[in-house]
Amino acid sequence: PPGDVPALEGRGLVKHFGGVKAVDGVDISVGSGTVHGIIGPNGSGKSTTVSCLTRFHQVDDGEVLVFGETAARHPWAVPSQGVIRVFQIPHLFEQQSVLDNVLTGRRRRESYGWLAAVLRLPAYRRQDRAGRAEGRALLEFAGLAGRADRLAGSLSHGQKRLLEVVRAAASGPRVLILDEPATGLTRTEIAALARLCRGFRDAGLAVVLIEHNVEFVMDVCDQITVIDSGTVIASGAPDHVRGHPAVLEAYLGR
Ligand code: ADP
Ligand code: MG
Repeated sequence: PPGDVPALEGRGLVKHFGGVKAVDGVDISVGSGTVHGIIGPNGSGKSTTVSCLTRFHQVDDGEVLVFGETAARHPWAVPSQGVIRVFQIPHLFEQQSVLDNVLTGRRRRESYGWLAAVLRLPAYRRQDRAGRAEGRALLEFAGLAGRADRLAGSLSHGQKRLLEVVRAAASGPRVLILDEPATGLTRTEIAALARLCRGFRDAGLAVVLIEHNVEFVMDVCDQITVIDSGTVIASGAPDHVRGHPAVLEAYLGR
């Protein structure tokens, strides 16, 4: 069963920028049906680790495996292996409705051709209906039900970030990577984000969460990897990580 093989795995990842050892031998293993947090001080190598995992950077050393297979070599091929990353800055279609933004995510996995869409053939209409229903359900889950028909550009910062997460989820990933999704969100929006993460996990996704907000990470994650100066200083369940001396010293105590 797929549960036995990690959804996403980095082994001995190394990435240097000139003299800066941004990532210096990181091992990380993310299982399906888990929310996996990556925490660490600013500049510790969290984003670079994820950029290695998604092939945004070519590694200097180490291996990346997606469901046990060597990851695609090129960043544009990674999504076809089911790995989707949501960046820190939203890239929405601001002049389209919130729901239409969600549907652009879903189109990635629809099976009709462009001709069926242009001619509005039954296959297109069927999937379009199903997509809209699913999109509205996802938006409701994210606390955005009342905004479905507004322009995406009219949303608040936090709502845009939630929409970005919903749109990524609608594309049907097996691994969903969120880079600091809680930044700038209100308490209500953070609660919605937590609900989404848990929902994705319960649906069997591997969710990777790079996050500043330690309280949020401890609350929502099943597993946590703590990175400092490009190396893993602790990993495990939140309770294990919370009490770890190296973590207190390097991060939580600062
Ligand atoms: P984090 O996400 O944990 O804040 P980063 O992975 O962004 O940390 O950065 C780790 C280190 O690598 C930092 O010292 C940063 O300045 C450096 N770094 C990151 N990206 C680049 C880059 N493209 N070129 C040069 N140095 C970089
Ligand atoms: Mg970062």
